Amino acid sequence: MKQKTKLVIIGSGPAGYTAAIYAARANLAPVLYEGFYSGPSGGQLMTTTDVENFPGFPEGVAGPDLMDRCRNQALRFGTTILTDDVVSVDFSEAPYKIIGKNNEHIADSVIIATGATAKRLVIPGANDGEFWQKGVTACAVCDGAMPIFRNKDLYVIGGGDSAVEEATFLTKYAHKVYIVHRRDKLRASKIMQDRALNHPKIEILWNSEIVAIEGDNVVRSVSVLNHITGETTLREAGGVFFAIGHTPNTAFLKGQIKLHDTGYIDVVPGSCKTNVDLVYACGDAQDHVYRQAITAAGTGCMAAMEVERELSARGLAE
Ligand code: NAP
Repeated sequence: MKQKTKLVIIGSGPAGYTAAIYAARANLAPVLYEGFYSGPSGGQLMTTTDVENFPGFPEGVAGPDLMDRCRNQALRFGTTILTDDVVSVDFSEAPYKIIGKNNEHIADSVIIATGATAKRLVIPGANDGEFWQKGVTACAVCDGAMPIFRNKDLYVIGGGDSAVEEATFLTKYAHKVYIVHRRDKLRASKIMQDRALNHPKIEILWNSEIVAIEGDNVVRSVSVLNHITGETTLREAGGVFFAIGHTPNTAFLKGQIKLHDTGYIDVVPGSCKTNVDLVYACGDAQDHVYRQAITAAGTGCMAAMEVERELSARGLAE
């Protein structure tokens, strides 16, 4: 059955929940689709162990715990949370149609907060139930300061800005950081390349790939294949960080809203406005640069405030 609402929020990470908290407190009675099959509700933090850089938690907080708190805060002020996936939207005319697997809404405004998914390699040792989150991660800034990585040889896979940024960040804790790149040239910007090439603690393993990750409770070694020599070498390792890019979760928006070539939602700089009237985007679905829980939450707040102002100005907030 189709239901009419002032605001639908799609997505349930820090961006979606923060948008819901602000919108609910502004009496917009938001409906939030938190997802089900599309990934864990709560987003990327649900697979993160300790979050040590979210302000307000000096002792750190477990990712799922933080999301649970945000979810409860959104519920407290009157958000309706649906455990359902949005499969398509129709933004051709307002009010807009949001079609879930089991629900359907007509909404005056929409906030998209579907996030992004870090790309992972399917190699032995890297999967859930193996060393994923036990030394293998996709976010150095989130996980790099953990004790298991201290004074160890760490491996970053990738050759873009993220790989260099993550490797540089990890030098604070690591004994040495190896960037494992499949080609003989970095894709990263010149300034970032210089940073990696000149850093005494960073070494680049060119034309190479990690083909297996081994260990006991945590990562202890990696097998690195050199494409030129054809040799595979077993090397001591305390951690492996994927920096091979992210995929924004925006496939269901194709043809409905302006996306960059890379799939990220195009927003007006300094705001959360998309090219569709009263449709806003926040969090990692529109941010390929910062990608932090706190920045996602910040843009969630911005999106909700922008929606509230616009709906009020048009007499649609009552
Ligand atoms: P990216 O530029 O797409 O680079 C991904 C890297 O991963 C590439 O070097 C690629 O290798 C490698 N890769 C992809 N798939 C692989 C696979 N299956 N096996 C092995 N290696 C693989 O992604 P990014 O570094 O995350 O950057 C994304 C965007 O954010 C870029 O526009 C970047 O400039 C921006 N960014 C900016 C900053 C900053 O300015 N501080 C920081 C981070 C990101 P190839 O080179 O061989 O394709």
